[in-house]
Amino acid sequence: MIVDNFDRVHTYLRISLTDNCNLRCFYCMPEEEYAFTPSSKLMQLDEIVKLAKIFVQEGVTKIRLTGGEPLVRKDAGNIIEELSKLPVSLTLTSNGTTIHHYFDLLKRSSIRSVNISLDTLQAETFQHITRRDSFAQVYQNILWLIDNGFEVKINVVVMKGLNDAEINDFIDWTKETTIEVRFIEFMPFEGNQWTSNKVFTWQQILDRVQEKYVIEKVMDHPNDTAKHYSVPGHKGSFGVISTMSAPFCGGCNRMRLTADGKMKNCLFSPHETDLLGALRKGEDLLSLIRKCIGEKAKGLGGQMPEDFEQLHAEEMHNRSMITIGG
Ligand code: SAM
Ligand code: SF4
Repeated sequence: MIVDNFDRVHTYLRISLTDNCNLRCFYCMPEEEYAFTPSSKLMQLDEIVKLAKIFVQEGVTKIRLTGGEPLVRKDAGNIIEELSKLPVSLTLTSNGTTIHHYFDLLKRSSIRSVNISLDTLQAETFQHITRRDSFAQVYQNILWLIDNGFEVKINVVVMKGLNDAEINDFIDWTKETTIEVRFIEFMPFEGNQWTSNKVFTWQQILDRVQEKYVIEKVMDHPNDTAKHYSVPGHKGSFGVISTMSAPFCGGCNRMRLTADGKMKNCLFSPHETDLLGALRKGEDLLSLIRKCIGEKAKGLGGQMPEDFEQLHAEEMHNRSMITIGG
Protein backbone atom coordinates (compact mmCIF):
# COMPACT_ATOMS: atom_id res chain seq x y z
CA MET A 1 0.00 0.00 0.00
CA ILE A 2 1.10 3.54 -0.68
CA VAL A 3 0.10 5.60 2.36
CA ASP A 4 1.08 9.17 3.22
CA ASN A 5 1.62 10.82 6.61
CA PHE A 6 -2.06 11.76 6.80
CA ASP A 7 -3.21 8.11 6.41
CA ARG A 8 -4.40 8.69 2.87
CA VAL A 9 -4.15 5.46 0.88
CA HIS A 10 -3.12 6.11 -2.72
CA THR A 11 -4.91 3.87 -5.20
CA TYR A 12 -5.21 6.12 -8.25
CA LEU A 13 -2.41 6.88 -10.71
CA ARG A 14 -2.68 9.42 -13.51
CA ILE A 15 -0.13 8.83 -16.26
CA SER A 16 0.66 11.56 -18.75
CA LEU A 17 1.61 10.05 -22.12
CA THR A 18 2.90 13.24 -23.70
CA ASP A 19 3.16 16.99 -23.23
CA ASN A 20 2.22 17.41 -26.88
CA CYS A 21 -1.22 18.51 -27.98
CA ASN A 22 -3.13 19.39 -31.13
CA LEU A 23 -5.11 22.13 -29.34
CA ARG A 24 -3.77 25.26 -27.68
CA CYS A 25 -6.08 25.94 -24.72
CA PHE A 26 -4.71 29.15 -23.24
CA TYR A 27 -5.40 28.06 -19.64
CA CYS A 28 -3.27 24.95 -20.08
CA MET A 29 -0.48 25.71 -22.51
CA PRO A 30 1.70 28.77 -21.98
CA GLU A 31 2.22 29.94 -25.54
CA GLU A 32 1.97 28.99 -29.21
CA GLU A 33 5.75 28.35 -29.66
CA TYR A 34 5.86 25.95 -26.74
CA ALA A 35 8.61 23.30 -27.29
CA PHE A 36 7.41 19.76 -26.70
CA THR A 37 9.69 17.26 -24.95
CA PRO A 38 11.63 15.08 -27.41
CA SER A 39 10.49 11.48 -27.58
CA SER A 40 13.75 10.04 -26.10
CA LYS A 41 13.08 11.92 -22.86
CA LEU A 42 9.55 10.53 -22.57
CA MET A 43 8.67 7.25 -20.93
CA GLN A 44 8.67 4.55 -23.61
CA LEU A 45 5.92 1.94 -23.89
CA ASP A 46 7.81 -0.76 -21.94
CA GLU A 47 8.80 1.78 -19.28
CA ILE A 48 5.21 2.92 -18.81
CA VAL A 49 4.11 -0.70 -18.40
CA LYS A 50 6.94 -1.47 -15.92
CA LEU A 51 6.17 1.58 -13.80
CA ALA A 52 2.41 0.95 -13.93
CA LYS A 53 2.94 -2.64 -12.77
CA ILE A 54 4.89 -1.48 -9.71
CA PHE A 55 2.09 0.88 -8.73
CA VAL A 56 -0.52 -1.85 -9.30
CA GLN A 57 1.45 -4.26 -7.09
CA GLU A 58 1.35 -1.57 -4.41
CA GLY A 59 -2.44 -1.29 -4.48
CA VAL A 60 -3.31 1.02 -7.37
CA THR A 61 -6.74 0.07 -8.71
CA LYS A 62 -7.33 2.90 -11.16
CA ILE A 63 -5.14 4.36 -13.91
CA ARG A 64 -6.08 7.39 -15.98
CA LEU A 65 -4.18 8.23 -19.17
CA THR A 66 -3.86 11.93 -19.79
CA GLY A 67 -1.45 14.52 -21.17
CA GLY A 68 -1.07 16.83 -23.13
CA GLU A 69 -3.38 15.05 -25.47
CA PRO A 70 -2.73 11.33 -24.86
CA LEU A 71 -4.13 10.29 -28.23
CA VAL A 72 -1.65 12.35 -30.29
CA ARG A 73 1.12 10.05 -29.14
CA LYS A 74 1.88 7.63 -32.02
CA ASP A 75 1.92 4.50 -29.85
CA ALA A 76 -1.08 5.53 -27.71
CA GLY A 77 -3.02 2.55 -29.08
CA ASN A 78 -0.30 0.10 -28.04
CA ILE A 79 -0.07 1.66 -24.60
CA ILE A 80 -3.83 1.34 -24.14
CA GLU A 81 -3.69 -2.29 -25.27
CA GLU A 82 -0.86 -3.15 -22.87
CA LEU A 83 -2.38 -1.37 -19.88
CA SER A 84 -5.75 -3.01 -20.62
CA LYS A 85 -4.12 -6.28 -19.52
CA LEU A 86 -3.55 -4.97 -15.97
CA PRO A 87 -6.11 -5.62 -13.21
CA VAL A 88 -7.13 -1.97 -12.94
CA SER A 89 -9.94 0.30 -13.99
CA LEU A 90 -8.36 2.05 -17.00
CA THR A 91 -9.71 5.44 -18.04
CA LEU A 92 -8.76 8.27 -20.35
CA THR A 93 -9.00 12.06 -20.42
CA SER A 94 -8.95 13.43 -23.95
CA ASN A 95 -9.84 16.55 -25.86
CA GLY A 96 -11.89 14.28 -28.13
CA THR A 97 -10.48 15.56 -31.42
CA THR A 98 -9.06 12.24 -32.63
CA ILE A 99 -11.29 9.69 -30.89
CA HIS A 100 -12.66 8.64 -34.33
CA HIS A 101 -9.22 7.16 -35.15
CA TYR A 102 -9.53 4.92 -32.08
CA PHE A 103 -13.09 3.58 -32.33
CA ASP A 104 -12.08 -0.08 -32.80
CA LEU A 105 -9.27 0.09 -30.27
CA LEU A 106 -11.46 1.66 -27.59
CA LYS A 107 -14.08 -1.04 -28.03
CA ARG A 108 -11.40 -3.74 -27.70
CA SER A 109 -9.68 -2.10 -24.73
CA SER A 110 -10.69 -2.29 -21.07
CA ILE A 111 -11.61 1.40 -21.08
CA ARG A 112 -15.31 1.89 -20.29
CA SER A 113 -15.29 5.48 -19.09
CA VAL A 114 -13.85 8.50 -20.90
CA ASN A 115 -13.57 12.14 -19.84
CA ILE A 116 -13.77 14.57 -22.73
CA SER A 117 -12.92 18.24 -22.32
CA LEU A 118 -15.36 20.65 -23.90
CA ASP A 119 -15.64 24.13 -22.39
CA THR A 120 -18.28 25.51 -24.71
CA LEU A 121 -21.11 24.41 -26.98
CA GLN A 122 -20.38 27.23 -29.42
CA ALA A 123 -17.94 26.66 -32.28
CA GLU A 124 -16.71 30.26 -32.16
CA THR A 125 -15.92 30.20 -28.43
CA PHE A 126 -14.24 26.80 -28.90
CA GLN A 127 -11.93 28.40 -31.47
CA HIS A 128 -11.20 31.28 -29.11
CA ILE A 129 -10.30 28.99 -26.17
CA THR A 130 -8.42 26.25 -28.05
CA ARG A 131 -7.11 28.31 -30.98
CA ARG A 132 -8.26 25.47 -33.25
CA ASP A 133 -11.42 24.76 -35.24
CA SER A 134 -12.41 21.29 -33.99
CA PHE A 135 -15.74 21.79 -32.24
CA ALA A 136 -17.84 19.72 -34.68
CA GLN A 137 -15.43 16.77 -34.60
CA VAL A 138 -15.29 16.72 -30.80
CA TYR A 139 -19.06 16.92 -30.51
CA GLN A 140 -19.54 14.08 -33.01
CA ASN A 141 -17.02 11.92 -31.19
CA ILE A 142 -18.79 12.49 -27.88
CA LEU A 143 -22.05 11.30 -29.47
CA TRP A 144 -20.26 8.21 -30.79
CA LEU A 145 -18.91 7.37 -27.33
CA ILE A 146 -22.37 7.71 -25.79
CA ASP A 147 -24.02 5.64 -28.55
CA ASN A 148 -21.43 2.93 -28.06
CA GLY A 149 -22.06 2.54 -24.36
CA PHE A 150 -19.10 4.41 -22.86
CA GLU A 151 -19.62 6.32 -19.65
CA VAL A 152 -18.87 9.90 -20.72
CA LYS A 153 -17.93 12.78 -18.47
CA ILE A 154 -17.61 16.24 -19.99
CA ASN A 155 -14.96 18.45 -18.38
CA VAL A 156 -15.83 22.15 -18.52
CA VAL A 157 -13.34 24.68 -17.13
CA VAL A 158 -15.55 27.61 -16.14
CA MET A 159 -14.03 31.06 -16.55
CA LYS A 160 -15.86 34.18 -15.51
CA GLY A 161 -17.10 36.21 -18.47
CA LEU A 162 -15.92 33.62 -20.97
CA ASN A 163 -18.23 30.62 -20.69
CA ASP A 164 -20.17 30.98 -17.41
CA ALA A 165 -23.19 32.07 -19.44
CA GLU A 166 -23.26 28.58 -20.97
CA ILE A 167 -23.56 26.66 -17.71
CA ASN A 168 -27.27 26.03 -18.18
CA ASP A 169 -26.77 25.02 -21.83
CA PHE A 170 -24.66 22.16 -20.47
CA ILE A 171 -27.36 21.34 -17.89
CA ASP A 172 -29.94 21.35 -20.74
CA TRP A 173 -27.76 18.76 -22.47
CA THR A 174 -28.10 16.39 -19.47
CA LYS A 175 -31.88 16.30 -19.92
CA GLU A 176 -31.96 13.58 -22.58
CA THR A 177 -28.31 12.49 -22.54
CA THR A 178 -26.61 10.19 -20.05
CA ILE A 179 -23.51 12.34 -19.62
CA GLU A 180 -22.03 13.74 -16.42
CA VAL A 181 -20.96 17.35 -16.89
CA ARG A 182 -18.13 18.33 -14.54
CA PHE A 183 -17.66 22.05 -14.06
CA ILE A 184 -14.05 22.74 -13.02
CA GLU A 185 -12.94 25.90 -11.24
CA PHE A 186 -10.15 27.64 -13.16
CA MET A 187 -6.79 26.76 -11.56
CA PRO A 188 -3.43 28.60 -11.66
CA PHE A 189 -0.43 27.07 -13.46
CA GLU A 190 2.69 28.54 -14.94
CA GLY A 191 1.97 30.97 -17.75
CA ASN A 192 -1.83 30.49 -17.89
CA GLN A 193 -3.10 34.02 -17.25
CA TRP A 194 -4.84 33.00 -14.01
CA THR A 195 -6.19 35.70 -11.75
CA SER A 196 -8.57 35.13 -8.87
CA ASN A 197 -11.26 37.29 -10.44
CA LYS A 198 -11.54 34.86 -13.37
CA VAL A 199 -12.55 31.99 -11.07
CA PHE A 200 -16.26 31.18 -11.24
CA THR A 201 -16.77 29.35 -7.97
CA TRP A 202 -18.70 26.23 -6.97
CA GLN A 203 -21.31 28.40 -5.21
CA GLN A 204 -21.65 30.70 -8.22
CA ILE A 205 -22.10 27.66 -10.47
CA LEU A 206 -24.84 26.25 -8.21
CA ASP A 207 -26.55 29.66 -8.05
CA ARG A 208 -26.49 29.89 -11.82
CA VAL A 209 -28.01 26.42 -12.28
CA GLN A 210 -30.68 27.19 -9.68
CA GLU A 211 -31.79 30.26 -11.63
CA LYS A 212 -33.33 27.75 -14.03
CA TYR A 213 -33.51 24.35 -12.31
CA VAL A 214 -34.28 22.66 -9.02
CA ILE A 215 -31.26 20.51 -8.13
CA GLU A 216 -30.70 17.55 -5.83
CA LYS A 217 -27.47 16.53 -4.12
CA VAL A 218 -26.21 13.12 -5.17
CA MET A 219 -24.02 11.17 -2.74
CA ASP A 220 -20.26 11.60 -3.27
CA HIS A 221 -17.65 8.86 -2.89
CA PRO A 222 -14.97 9.72 -0.25
CA ASN A 223 -12.24 9.95 -2.95
CA ASP A 224 -14.31 12.03 -5.39
CA THR A 225 -12.94 15.29 -6.65
CA ALA A 226 -16.39 16.36 -7.83
CA LYS A 227 -19.41 17.27 -5.73
CA HIS A 228 -22.33 15.60 -7.50
CA TYR A 229 -25.83 16.88 -8.29
CA SER A 230 -28.73 16.06 -10.53
CA VAL A 231 -31.79 17.77 -11.88
CA PRO A 232 -34.87 15.60 -11.22
CA GLY A 233 -36.02 14.00 -14.48
CA HIS A 234 -32.71 14.48 -16.31
CA LYS A 235 -30.99 11.36 -17.64
CA GLY A 236 -27.53 12.84 -17.01
CA SER A 237 -26.07 14.60 -13.99
CA PHE A 238 -23.47 17.20 -13.11
CA GLY A 239 -20.66 17.81 -10.68
CA VAL A 240 -18.42 20.66 -9.58
CA ILE A 241 -14.66 20.35 -9.03
CA SER A 242 -14.12 23.09 -6.48
CA THR A 243 -10.33 23.00 -6.21
CA MET A 244 -10.03 26.72 -5.55
CA SER A 245 -13.02 27.58 -3.34
CA ALA A 246 -13.43 24.28 -1.45
CA PRO A 247 -10.47 21.92 -1.92
CA PHE A 248 -11.02 18.20 -1.39
CA CYS A 249 -7.52 17.17 -0.30
CA GLY A 250 -8.70 15.20 2.77
CA GLY A 251 -9.83 12.29 0.61
CA CYS A 252 -7.04 12.49 -1.95
CA ASN A 253 -5.89 9.12 -3.32
CA ARG A 254 -4.13 10.43 -6.44
CA MET A 255 -0.55 10.34 -7.70
CA ARG A 256 0.81 11.52 -11.02
CA LEU A 257 3.49 10.49 -13.46
CA THR A 258 4.52 13.17 -15.93
CA ALA A 259 5.30 12.15 -19.51
CA ASP A 260 9.02 12.48 -18.75
CA GLY A 261 8.67 10.05 -15.88
CA LYS A 262 8.61 12.34 -12.85
CA MET A 263 6.31 11.37 -10.01
CA LYS A 264 4.26 14.16 -8.45
CA ASN A 265 2.40 13.53 -5.22
CA CYS A 266 -0.03 16.39 -5.90
CA LEU A 267 -1.06 18.48 -8.90
CA PHE A 268 0.23 21.56 -7.07
CA SER A 269 3.37 20.07 -5.56
CA PRO A 270 6.57 21.99 -6.39
CA HIS A 271 8.55 18.73 -5.93
CA GLU A 272 9.13 15.87 -8.36
CA THR A 273 10.77 12.45 -8.09
CA ASP A 274 12.56 11.15 -11.16
CA LEU A 275 11.25 7.60 -11.50
CA LEU A 276 12.19 7.26 -15.17
CA GLY A 277 15.83 8.19 -14.49
CA ALA A 278 15.90 5.69 -11.61
CA LEU A 279 14.31 2.97 -13.75
CA ARG A 280 16.91 3.51 -16.48
CA LYS A 281 19.70 3.28 -13.89
CA GLY A 282 18.21 0.15 -12.32
CA GLU A 283 17.63 1.81 -8.94
CA ASP A 284 15.04 0.78 -6.34
CA LEU A 285 11.80 2.46 -7.38
CA LEU A 286 9.60 1.47 -4.47
CA SER A 287 11.67 3.36 -1.91
CA LEU A 288 11.54 6.46 -4.15
CA ILE A 289 7.76 6.16 -4.52
CA ARG A 290 7.32 5.82 -0.75
CA LYS A 291 9.62 8.80 -0.10
CA CYS A 292 7.69 10.91 -2.61
CA ILE A 293 4.36 10.07 -0.96
CA GLY A 294 5.89 10.61 2.49
CA GLU A 295 6.57 14.21 1.44
CA LYS A 296 3.00 14.89 0.34
CA ALA A 297 1.59 18.07 1.88
CA LYS A 298 -1.76 18.06 3.65
CA GLY A 299 -3.35 20.18 0.96
CA LEU A 300 -2.78 21.79 -2.46
CA GLY A 301 0.93 20.98 -2.63
CA GLY A 302 1.49 23.09 0.48
CA GLN A 303 1.68 26.26 -1.57
CA MET A 304 -1.77 27.82 -1.68
CA PRO A 305 -3.39 30.10 0.90
CA GLU A 306 -6.73 29.01 2.38
CA ASP A 307 -8.49 31.84 0.59
CA PHE A 308 -7.68 31.62 -3.11
CA GLU A 309 -8.36 35.34 -3.50
CA GLN A 310 -5.12 35.95 -1.57
CA LEU A 311 -3.13 33.83 -4.02
CA HIS A 312 -0.49 35.44 -6.21
CA ALA A 313 -0.07 32.94 -9.03
CA GLU A 314 3.38 34.25 -9.96
CA GLU A 315 4.70 33.12 -6.55
CA MET A 316 3.71 29.49 -7.12
CA HIS A 317 6.34 26.97 -8.22
CA ASN A 318 4.93 24.45 -10.61
CA ARG A 319 4.99 23.32 -14.21
CA SER A 320 2.35 24.36 -16.72
CA MET A 321 -0.70 22.09 -16.72
CA ILE A 322 0.18 20.57 -20.09
CA THR A 323 3.56 19.39 -18.80
CA ILE A 324 2.11 17.93 -15.59
CA GLY A 325 -0.78 16.04 -17.10
CA GLY A 326 -4.25 17.11 -16.03
N1 SAM B 1 -5.81 16.96 -23.49
C1 SAM B 1 -6.70 16.29 -22.61
C2 SAM B 1 -7.92 17.12 -22.34
O1 SAM B 1 -7.93 18.31 -22.66
O2 SAM B 1 -8.87 16.57 -21.79
C3 SAM B 1 -6.07 15.85 -21.31
C4 SAM B 1 -5.14 16.79 -20.62
S1 SAM B 1 -5.89 18.25 -19.95
C5 SAM B 1 -4.49 19.02 -19.20
C6 SAM B 1 -6.81 17.56 -18.60
C7 SAM B 1 -7.88 18.44 -18.02
O3 SAM B 1 -7.28 19.54 -17.36
C8 SAM B 1 -8.83 19.03 -19.06
O4 SAM B 1 -10.16 18.74 -18.70
C9 SAM B 1 -8.57 20.49 -18.98
O5 SAM B 1 -9.71 21.23 -19.25
C10 SAM B 1 -8.12 20.65 -17.54
N2 SAM B 1 -7.36 21.87 -17.30
C11 SAM B 1 -6.28 22.31 -17.97
N3 SAM B 1 -5.84 23.48 -17.48
C12 SAM B 1 -6.69 23.80 -16.46
C13 SAM B 1 -6.79 24.89 -15.56
N4 SAM B 1 -5.92 25.89 -15.61
N5 SAM B 1 -7.78 24.90 -14.65
C14 SAM B 1 -8.66 23.88 -14.59
N6 SAM B 1 -8.62 22.80 -15.41
C15 SAM B 1 -7.65 22.77 -16.34
FE1 SF4 C 1 -4.41 20.28 -24.98
FE2 SF4 C 1 -6.02 19.33 -23.10
FE3 SF4 C 1 -4.30 21.29 -22.56
FE4 SF4 C 1 -6.33 21.82 -24.14
S1 SF4 C 1 -6.47 21.19 -21.98
S2 SF4 C 1 -4.18 22.41 -24.52
S3 SF4 C 1 -6.61 19.92 -25.17
S4 SF4 C 1 -3.78 19.24 -23.10
